[in-house]
Amino acid sequence: MVKKALKDYRPATQAVRVGQLRGSEGEHSEPIYTTSSFVFDSAAQCAARFSYEEPGNIYSRFTNPTVRVFEERLAALEGGESCVATASGMSAMLAVCMSALSAGDHVVSARSIFGASQILLSGLLAKFGVTTTFVDLSDLAAWRAALTDKTRMVFFETPTNPLMEIADIAAISNLVHDYDPNIKVVVDNCFCTPVLQQPLSLGADVVLHSATKFIDGQGRCVGGAVVGDQSFVGESVLGFMRTAGPSMSPFNAWTFAKGLETLALRVNQACDNAAQLADYLYTHKGVANVYYPGLTSHPQHALAMQQQGKGGAVVSFEVNGGRDAAWRIIDQTQLLSITANLGDTRTTITHPYTTTHARWSEEDKAAAGITEGLIRIAVGLEDPLDIIEDIRLPSL
Ligand SMILES: *Cc1c(COP(=O)(O)O)cnc(C)c1O
Repeated sequence: MVKKALKDYRPATQAVRVGQLRGSEGEHSEPIYTTSSFVFDSAAQCAARFSYEEPGNIYSRFTNPTVRVFEERLAALEGGESCVATASGMSAMLAVCMSALSAGDHVVSARSIFGASQILLSGLLAKFGVTTTFVDLSDLAAWRAALTDKTRMVFFETPTNPLMEIADIAAISNLVHDYDPNIKVVVDNCFCTPVLQQPLSLGADVVLHSATKFIDGQGRCVGGAVVGDQSFVGESVLGFMRTAGPSMSPFNAWTFAKGLETLALRVNQACDNAAQLADYLYTHKGVANVYYPGLTSHPQHALAMQQQGKGGAVVSFEVNGGRDAAWRIIDQTQLLSITANLGDTRTTITHPYTTTHARWSEEDKAAAGITEGLIRIAVGLEDPLDIIEDIRLPSL
């Protein structure tokens, strides 16, 4: 009987089986290969490996068996040909930009993206002659108008942080590729993970991850990844890693590979908990606005349901009473962790205005709707009733 290829199994099966590596001891869990270099049978084999004529390990800056377990598993879940793991989410972004862009090139990015990604584009890359135009995520005409004959990359996240706006991945990918099929459409899929949405299947070219968030899911390691086709990711991005080397350590890769095995269980449960919290907040009279794509009141609810299936694990809401009221709610929690991280088993609560978005100007925050009364909760795996009770809104 012909053995069924792992890629022909369903996602839940692939998440625990793809990339599995077994050493000479017959161990069931993947071994961690903590080695910087590898040895060869002969000078000729060594030369063949270095020139990529013969596949195999060379040096752990760009090839390591444990890192490959994670890369193959994530590539399978995102439906991509190739995956390259990086030391952090930001180095995944850097690797994509350094591979896709040269001096004089132009990028179009959504305005509301992760803070360090915004600074990477507007500050770091600007120093090297790459310019970026920032547009409103949901304004398709603005995306189209911003494209020029110098545009080489388009970048966005969906949903956005903290206001949970949704980008129509297929619509943006189509309009960009109609304009020029060579422009890379790059999506940061950190908030949804492949459990909820697979941007490559909707027309995007490249997916970025901060593995630090849901993929680890337990707040232990910093890491990132790039997923896409063989020629861009498997050659250009891998080439950047070989030259510049922001590599993932084998130990971290092992942690993330294990994280992928339980990713669907964790993400689905966190989404269900977040939906209960959003329902509670929505009916509370002290709450002025709830930003959660799973609520039918969300302006892009239909698109969110079609594209990501669930509302996600992050809920933002605005309380009457501005900063004082928001800080009072945050400070009286006993269970939630006051921190800006997300994607952890433990629920976190943060005040975007004075933390993640503190460096934005007052005007930009006002234009984006990030007010002093806004609170963001990244829901984890505690009992949702305990999360709701900990917020204690009745005392408002
Ligand atoms: C955290 C995060 C990043 C950066 O990832 P690091 O692993 O912290 O470098 C990028 N994008 C999003 C959406 C994030 O939440």
